[in-house]
Amino acid sequence: MIKIWYGLVVLIIVESVAYALAAGLCTYCQRMLRWQFAAVVNSGRLAENIPYADSINRYAMLEEIDSYVVAAVIQTESSFNPCALSRAGAAGLMQIMPDTWENVNAKIKACVGRHPNACGFSCFYDPDLNIHIGTAYLSQLVKQYNGNVSLALAAYNQGPGAIDAKKDIPEDGAEYVDTVIFYWYNLTAEPLSPYGVWFERLKHWKMALCWIEAITLLLFTVVTRKMVTSCRGWRWR
Ligand SMILES: [Zn+2]
Repeated sequence: MIKIWYGLVVLIIVESVAYALAAGLCTYCQRMLRWQFAAVVNSGRLAENIPYADSINRYAMLEEIDSYVVAAVIQTESSFNPCALSRAGAAGLMQIMPDTWENVNAKIKACVGRHPNACGFSCFYDPDLNIHIGTAYLSQLVKQYNGNVSLALAAYNQGPGAIDAKKDIPEDGAEYVDTVIFYWYNLTAEPLSPYGVWFERLKHWKMALCWIEAITLLLFTVVTRKMVTSCRGWRWR
């Protein structure tokens, strides 16, 4: 029993070291992936062979933002479904909240003269209008974060309030930003760097190691309890 116990202790240590290593490398690859993305993102190319390419290109050019970033945001937000509506109330292709819509529209007057009152679902679900407002908003955020597209994407997803305090991408916004980045590489057919490939791989390894360690800890508890019981028996009998 004591041998198994020692074996488990060694296993837990090895697993912890492996996890820390995988986690460290994963974070490193994630940083490099974002850094490379930031370096290549302003391709100036026009989007082709994707839904709503005309609207995407028109407003991306107008707002001086990469067409494929807009396309990747649309894919992440709504999978190109113009009628998408989230539980929080974000609507349309680019999943825009009514408040945001109102603010941006007040500046760029995209929807002026369409209806007598405030914008409603008929506006939100109009693909061309939605892309216009969403792209203008995204561009506004990119400027606000001095051209840091990753931060702008995190702010687009979580609201600028979540980003302003830390000037860093919060943990729960990281997945969104990385998803958009992966879609961007996919849509542009730009080759994903080894950092991107390893980032994905290490993310899975991290998860697997976490489970393996949990199982080992469970076994460790069982063995320890058994040992304590048999030890007591030996002492008192
Ligand atoms: Zn409207």
